[in-house]
Amino acid sequence: MSALDPREIQLMARELRGSVLRPGDAGYDEARRVFNGMIDRRPALIVRCENEADVATAIAFAREQRLPAAVRGGGHNVAGNAMCDGGLVIDLSLLRRVDVDAENRRARAQGGATWGEFDVATQAHALATPGGIVSSTGVAGLTLGGGIGVLRGLYGLTCDNLLRAELITAAGDRVEASSESNPELLWGLRGGGGNFGVVTTFEFALHPVAGVVSGPIDFQYSRDFLAFYDEFADTIPDEASCDLILRRTPEGEPLATVLASFCGPVEAAAPIYERLRSRFQPIRDGVAPRTYADSQRLYDQISPWGLRNYWKTNALGPLVAGAITAAAEVFEAAPSPLSQLQLEHLHGAMHRTPAGTNALRFGGAKFDLLVNAKWTGPALDQENIRWARDGYASLVPFTRAGAYPNYLFQESGERVREAYGEQAYARLVALKGRYDPTNFFRLNQNIQPAIRV
Ligand SMILES: Cc1cc2nc3c(=O)[nH]c(=O)nc-3n(C[C@H](O)[C@H](O)[C@H](O)COP(=O)(O)OP(=O)(O)OC[C@H]3O[C@@H](n4cnc5c(N)ncnc54)[C@H](O)[C@@H]3O)c2cc1C
Repeated sequence: MSALDPREIQLMARELRGSVLRPGDAGYDEARRVFNGMIDRRPALIVRCENEADVATAIAFAREQRLPAAVRGGGHNVAGNAMCDGGLVIDLSLLRRVDVDAENRRARAQGGATWGEFDVATQAHALATPGGIVSSTGVAGLTLGGGIGVLRGLYGLTCDNLLRAELITAAGDRVEASSESNPELLWGLRGGGGNFGVVTTFEFALHPVAGVVSGPIDFQYSRDFLAFYDEFADTIPDEASCDLILRRTPEGEPLATVLASFCGPVEAAAPIYERLRSRFQPIRDGVAPRTYADSQRLYDQISPWGLRNYWKTNALGPLVAGAITAAAEVFEAAPSPLSQLQLEHLHGAMHRTPAGTNALRFGGAKFDLLVNAKWTGPALDQENIRWARDGYASLVPFTRAGAYPNYLFQESGERVREAYGEQAYARLVALKGRYDPTNFFRLNQNIQPAIRV
């Protein structure tokens, strides 16, 4: 990478409707900030795109100058690939428009929109698509990596609801992906991440969603509760979702918190919640009827930006006795009171989508496991990272094939390959060879193009 000529930068900036930020510019430090406080990267340029042409200009400039390029959607990904050191960031955070076609139950979101904006726009018409549960998460990254939301039992993963996408490829071409136009690319965008280009527009199917009965319920943490939760999860209908977070209060009290949601008539929710409260008395019960958009903001405050995060993840089978002991030992040994062990219950429509709908590999896994180390201050990095790694290793015997790409950290190529499985990975490699043969988009859970001989 050679030193950048300021005149070249100026010429590029003149072509933009948006703007360029460089180290020292007002706004540069704010623009390079992402969710994970461990990520402190200093790009040479942040191109704040305001339209598709700006995206193409930024890509062309990075190629000409041989700069590594990162793509920033909502900035939530903990691996930190939305930023790079010394390279160029294609920043989409000014492209946040969401348009709803209520009659045809479709919504179009620009590449930098967040789930908060998407949910507000679609809920104005009592419609929704499964999305992330924290409103500042980007529509882009979450969708491209899969998307596990509270509507998964009824309507599948977010990416299963992606009908069409418009993207700019590494060659600067504008390409459309849909079931009619480049269907293989649409498949790849459903889980294959930001490997094929910069998606400027996502188009989703919408479903009628008026309200939900939802909220967190805190139970006293115990190993018996884990066994009960595993049984309870088997009984819930598609309308419900129940994820488990083992966490601590600020005073250090261990809790088993169920993040629950039911999307259907209020009276139909009651028997499900009665079952959940039947064996263990809640300490705090936040379940109430809410609009879906309000429910989607419930966990914003407990997900602050700036904490240091290190994640380990994999698909998991049922909580057999050994898994409960292992999970409990991991949780109980956490050095940071902010760290969590999370189980997302995978069920319903997301397991019924026809094979080949998306590139992901959840198979028949019952849970998505996330060992989520969170702490403050770099002095504590080593012990917290070690906790997550060792804890995860002790749970490996209970895992199933497949891992959720959106929760992977900075992993090896082998781990990414395993996450998708041989068959899907080979298909993704073929797509990569077609749309990004030089691996220009490589700051991601990278699909490496086959080496040409
Ligand atoms: C607090 C929190 C809550 C979360 N909740 C959920 C949840 O409920 N469900 C769930 O499934 N996941 C959840 N996630 C994980 C989330 O799906 C991923 O972190 C996802 O990558 C975030 O997308 P983003 O656009 O915000 O991230 P970014 O960091 O901006 O982007 C991540 C990567 O996506 C690619 N990318 C981004 N935008 C584009 C684009 N327009 N075109 C092409 N490539 C692009 C790039 O490779 C980039 O490195 C959560 C994460 C956090 C931190």
